Amino acid sequence: MTGTRAWHLKARPAGLPDMSHFELKPLDLPALGEGEVRVENRWLSVDPYMRGRMNDAKSYAPPFELGAPMQGGAVGTVVESRSPDLSVGDTVFHMMGWREQAVGAASAFTRAPAMGVPDSQWLGNLGLTGATAYFGLLRVAEAKSGDVVFVSAAAGAVGSAVVQIAKAKGMKVIGAAGGAEKCAWVRELGADAVVDYKAQPVVKGLMEALKALGVDGIDVYFDNVGGDHLDAAFAAARSGARFAICGMIEGYNAGPPPAFRYIMRVIAARITIKGFLYFDYLSEMPDFYRDMGGWIASGAVKSRETVREGIEAAPQAFLDLFAGANVGKMLVRL
Ligand code: NDP
Repeated sequence: MTGTRAWHLKARPAGLPDMSHFELKPLDLPALGEGEVRVENRWLSVDPYMRGRMNDAKSYAPPFELGAPMQGGAVGTVVESRSPDLSVGDTVFHMMGWREQAVGAASAFTRAPAMGVPDSQWLGNLGLTGATAYFGLLRVAEAKSGDVVFVSAAAGAVGSAVVQIAKAKGMKVIGAAGGAEKCAWVRELGADAVVDYKAQPVVKGLMEALKALGVDGIDVYFDNVGGDHLDAAFAAARSGARFAICGMIEGYNAGPPPAFRYIMRVIAARITIKGFLYFDYLSEMPDFYRDMGGWIASGAVKSRETVREGIEAAPQAFLDLFAGANVGKMLVRL
């Protein structure tokens, strides 16, 4: 047995979680069995979807078990191997995060492709969030050159990737984010217009942005937030608009929105609304690595991270996502 530490779910929250719902406890890891590896985690991902896994409710990912170690995306280094598939020193990404070390079958770990990028990118623009942006925009919404794209949480991990992919593909982009500083960064990424939803109602900001751009509506909405952002997109949709519903963070703690004022525009504007999960597109990852790798290499896609230090920082980093404390991808460095 080897000792390590892992965050455990201590209690299930109602509404916004706090530190009392998490506990950092020792975890005994077994000696390696045949075909297994031991990985020292270097980077942990904290992601909004984990809030859903804290509930005891059926969803696409099973709930975290009470009193058991939590899981999440991680990047680490193989430090011991009894598998021919992975060697000591390999950089891998996997889903046994929220702990210092992970032990498991080699098949549970993916060797990072040799693309000469910093390891943290496997949790950001070349990881789950970048892939979500890529498939959501290009496959789900079928966005194409010339489209007017509106994206919410545009200064976050997924949103900032959507802005940049859309610009690389010749679209017009309007990004919504909370606060002047975040909006300035979204502009820097190439957005044609921004909506600071903390300074004015989203629908008002979106209508003003459309006017400033001289266009009469949006063709695509990439939803990370739900609620009033989604309602504003209904109000602004052009005929035949496509909505990719990626996330609805506004409701993760507060519950679903009480009402939509503009939802009946779905009919007149013939809006197509499609929810998706990034893993629906795993078979197309080679396309993603080719395109995203190319954009990163050419500078068309830039990465920004908000980094917290040490395993102790993981739950607060996660909670801070709901307060918008991150710009770009929120990560924990071990
Ligand atoms: P982000 O990096 O975007 O972080 C979350 C951001 O959401 C915050 O920075 C904040 O930005 C914004 N936010 C938080 N609370 C609210 C609120 N009440 N109202 C409006 N904005 C809020 O996270 P990710 O990029 O990792 O995830 C973005 C979305 O994509 C989430 O909804 C997530 O669940 C979803 N997702 C879906 C996947 C899929 O497969 N479908 C995969 C990965 C993510 P601000 O300061 O601008 O408010």
